Amino acid sequence: MTANSPLYIILLGAPGAGKGTQARLLAEKLAIPQVASGDLFRENLNQQTPLGLLAKGYMDRGELVPDDVTIRMVEERLARPDAERGAILDGFPRTIAQAEALEQALAQAGRRVACVPYIKVSEQTLLLRLGGRWICPVCQTTYHVLYSPPKVAGICDKDGSPLYQRPDDTEETARNRLQIYFQQTAPLIAYYRDKGLLVEVDGEQSIEAVHGALVAAITARGAGLAS
Ligand code: ADP
Ligand code: ADP
Repeated sequence: MTANSPLYIILLGAPGAGKGTQARLLAEKLAIPQVASGDLFRENLNQQTPLGLLAKGYMDRGELVPDDVTIRMVEERLARPDAERGAILDGFPRTIAQAEALEQALAQAGRRVACVPYIKVSEQTLLLRLGGRWICPVCQTTYHVLYSPPKVAGICDKDGSPLYQRPDDTEETARNRLQIYFQQTAPLIAYYRDKGLLVEVDGEQSIEAVHGALVAAITARGAGLAS
């Protein structure tokens, strides 16, 4: 892989593992966009688009939105000019069908996934993280009431917006999302291990330590951190 090849990195991990937090840091470091399927659905929901209205019921229940609409949405996002040099994928793919569709779409453009870091966190930690998560509705920055609090309680450090808690982060829906993750998404760990792309990273460390481990893992795979 040369320094100028487009760089596609998939962050794999359960809800609450720290994918969004880490995707944001990596996107900044690598100067390629974070493409977060959950954020794309929430944007559609806020704008009341037909896609947003379709996704709402699934999201409220903590279930996955059907593959066909999800794949179309992410492929459209990846085709935008700012993703020409690659992307940090956060929350996609979440099923084997999505992974296969992504591989095909990239292959058609002569591209491929460079590396799949799997951020590994215990179930107990996941529930604690989801329960204390607060988000900025404007810039999507994620905070945690204990582990990563904003400077002023309830207010985004970056743009001063009032933070909110996601309705699907309540304990019952969060548990359901974890179950769905173990059934439908966890098989991707073996899928990418078999392809030689998986790198396990200990997600129980501090945000900074996880970031360092991810940068080291990506660099070790020769996936363009030279610049
Ligand atoms: P988390 O950050 O907690 O993992 P996300 O923001 O990624 O959650 O996703 C929120 C919800 O959006 C999911 O519970 C699901 O309903 C929907 N969603 C997001 N990404 C996908 C996907 N790749 N496939 C299907 N549904 C998705
Ligand atoms: P995901 O996108 O995988 O669902 P997030 O990045 O939204 O996960 O993180 C879930 C919650 O945990 C957020 O409140 C975030 O601030 C917090 N968090 C993320 N990484 C860590 C970490 N390494 N240590 C402690 N808290 C973390």
